[in-house]
Amino acid sequence: MVPTAKQQPSSPPPRSLYAHIPFCARHCGYCDFAIAVGKTDRIEAYLVALEAELARKVSLFQTSPLPMDTWFVGGGTPSLLDAGQLRRLGEILAGRTPLAPEGEASLEANPESFDGEKARVLADSGFTRISLGVQSFEPGTLEALERPHDATLVERGVRAAREAGLAVSLDLIFGAPGQTRDNWALDLRRAIDLGPDHLSLYGLTYERGTPLEKKVRGGLVLPLAEELERDLYDQAMTTLEAAGYHQYEISNFSRTGFESRHNRAYWANLPHVGIGMGAAGLLDGERTLNTRDLDRYLRLALAGEDTAFQRERLEPWETARETLMMNLRRVEGVVPEEFLARTGFSLDQILGDGAGPLVRQGLLARDELGLRLTREGRFVADAVIVQLLAGAPGSPEPNSAGVPG
Ligand code: SF4
Repeated sequence: MVPTAKQQPSSPPPRSLYAHIPFCARHCGYCDFAIAVGKTDRIEAYLVALEAELARKVSLFQTSPLPMDTWFVGGGTPSLLDAGQLRRLGEILAGRTPLAPEGEASLEANPESFDGEKARVLADSGFTRISLGVQSFEPGTLEALERPHDATLVERGVRAAREAGLAVSLDLIFGAPGQTRDNWALDLRRAIDLGPDHLSLYGLTYERGTPLEKKVRGGLVLPLAEELERDLYDQAMTTLEAAGYHQYEISNFSRTGFESRHNRAYWANLPHVGIGMGAAGLLDGERTLNTRDLDRYLRLALAGEDTAFQRERLEPWETARETLMMNLRRVEGVVPEEFLARTGFSLDQILGDGAGPLVRQGLLARDELGLRLTREGRFVADAVIVQLLAGAPGSPEPNSAGVPG
């Protein structure tokens, strides 16, 4: 049976903005993001469309401009924009959704397209943080991932960001074909030696239809053994902790005070505005997903029309389940008072007996502070979350999901 809310859930206005820049110089073999390859002649038109979409979305609110605590510009490759285009992007965001004092503004950059001039323009435009797509320093791993940069360009990027006064986050990938414990140890060491404020580590996934997944299916590429991948994640948690980076989410590690506020808002399942091709948004209990077709996006946005191709309004208890799922990604997990205030449901109402077996298996911990993954649970987080929700009241499916191990 579907539970009934105990109290009215809080529905704050959005304080976070995501802007998607889909342009990429080439298609990396593992990528299934919303991208547009080799279409940099459309960037100017895209910026006009982005502003039109943002204006339309902001006009839905009584406050205009609509202040934000965080901006996150992701891609694609936002650093493919030239310095003038980056300045224009900053003006568009600041004009419609100004950043609050002490706000956080991040932009994703690739080492081969990021330099001192772009870093200075970004800092002048209010950006505070660069998220650099390093993935690896090892030539063999970079080749397996089809990434065109090398370690020298990474060092140039970090230096440029630092000189402009920007905080630095580095993205790394583990589990690439051919990766070993030793070369992953070198990747971690080289990343730490650059002194970033923050690190995001992603296990490589073979998304259906990507060139890399096709190679795996054709027997041309051999994925790593599951056990080795697990070891690499374990190695990363231990190494980064010892180097002073605390883990605050399944994939994210930070020096104190440099956690990504934008992503924290996302894991708290708070409303956010999403603009650009393929961007997701959550406003007033409705999830939207923009079209992933560049021409269609430009046409709709420039005509002032709705750019979403998917809309979903969740029932309050569905929002509560979704919030539980997102909260569990955080190291602190689900905090009962926060959960009740955000969703109107108590944790018990949503969980029922769902957590018991997983707590007994040592994959979840539950106490007066709330419910969270154990260190062991982080290795199989997705499966734990599926099993937890499958056993909760109101689930459409009986408890059938298996947790490996
Ligand atoms: S640069 Fe990033 S977004 Fe573009 S294809 Fe490569 S992985 Fe995908």
